[in-house]
Amino acid sequence: MTIKPDMTTDGVLTADTHLIQSFADLNLLKQDGARTVIVGAEGSMVRDSEGNELIDGIGGLWCVNVGHGRKEIIDAIAQQLNQLDFYSTFYNFTHPTAAALAEKIASLAPGPLNKVYFANSGSVANDSAIRILHHYNNRLGRPKKKKILSRIGAYHGSTHLSIAMTTPAYSDGWDHAEGLVHHLKSPHFWREGDGMTEAEFCDSLVQDLKDTIENIGAENIATFIAEPVQGAGGVVMAPDGYHRRMAAVCEDYDIKYIADEVVTAFGRLGHFFASQDIFGYTPDIITTAKGLTSGYQPLSATIVSDEIHEVISRPGGMFLHGMTYSGHPAAAAAGLANIALMEKEQIPERVRTTGKLFENTLKGLSDLHIVGEVRGSHFMMGIEFVKDKATKQGFAPEDAIGLKLARAAQKRGLIARPLGNILILSPTLILTEQQIGQIGNILRDSIEEVTRSL
Ligand code: PMP
Repeated sequence: MTIKPDMTTDGVLTADTHLIQSFADLNLLKQDGARTVIVGAEGSMVRDSEGNELIDGIGGLWCVNVGHGRKEIIDAIAQQLNQLDFYSTFYNFTHPTAAALAEKIASLAPGPLNKVYFANSGSVANDSAIRILHHYNNRLGRPKKKKILSRIGAYHGSTHLSIAMTTPAYSDGWDHAEGLVHHLKSPHFWREGDGMTEAEFCDSLVQDLKDTIENIGAENIATFIAEPVQGAGGVVMAPDGYHRRMAAVCEDYDIKYIADEVVTAFGRLGHFFASQDIFGYTPDIITTAKGLTSGYQPLSATIVSDEIHEVISRPGGMFLHGMTYSGHPAAAAAGLANIALMEKEQIPERVRTTGKLFENTLKGLSDLHIVGEVRGSHFMMGIEFVKDKATKQGFAPEDAIGLKLARAAQKRGLIARPLGNILILSPTLILTEQQIGQIGNILRDSIEEVTRSL
């Protein structure tokens, strides 16, 4: 059966004029129409409508962790749909797949994080975390304890609330929930730590948190939300010990710590969850999505501690929060099959070797003239380009350096994601050593070509 007619590239692009792209310059797209039509994918490769085979250097969008076209997940989804296409998890209904996935996630998450709320995106996972914490404080008779601390450089999503928690640069010209969020300083040592050692910089960030809490009042602050490694804000690793120290301050002031592990969980940094296993702190809530199903189905999880759940399930109130597709059977089946595959093939363990090779390969580009900083960890990397290495002066937006580099790389068979002066690489977690070498060579050639053209 043909579900839709085969289309030529032009046919797709004509139809595509009806589609509103995400995070795009819609005016530019209208003018140059330069879009790549992806028609197929397998392993770490994707194929475009012109027959080009490209290395998927961004893993879909930081999400296709186990690689494309994995039959185990596709079959599990089909099997689930044949057995039960849909039922909700509202009221007193549940179904075996959502229950089993919640139990599995609880077994993988740090100790006290045992209760899982499903939704369909990282944005809604974060909104859900905030709604749950606000309700938690209402239940405890603390109706004023609602403000949110986030950070410059954060990315937490695109809904009205999650964009408010995201770094202000992402809502330029757009509105969001006003007055609820305070942004703490960026943890980016290379950019912000001038004149300090890394340890002194870390001290200053912890002090910023303490000062902010004293100014706003702990009785008015519900939570601090932070990604273990900032992703879409430019792949920023915080200084050593930062998360542990921030978590300790939050605990002292009775402020809940939300670790946004939408990107960092499910193997990208070599562990199922990064907060405890890599950075040594236990948050009160973890939000995750992307690698949970490796992108085969839209699914997110807000994983809350037993203590929070105990409060919100006391007599005298309802859990008035729900999405029709929360725990959708097909999405839950994809999650279970994806995790089973990760365990069977020991993907997180393998990432500790191959991801490290990837990290070192990209760090090997640091000698190039316009490479300011190569940063990140394992399969979550960013390269920031500068006009002047000594002053770290960046390129002007009209130089479109990221875009030029991404195009030069794509011409050579690699998809990378441009973000202003930064190129982001977040590939599948199953890259071979040979593909890692190939990515290093393509990036070097592309950077050299663009440097010559400047
Ligand atoms: N948090 C983080 C850390 C993210 O990187 C993203 C998406 N890139 C989100 C939340 C939002 O997830 P979604 O796009 O699925 O809403």
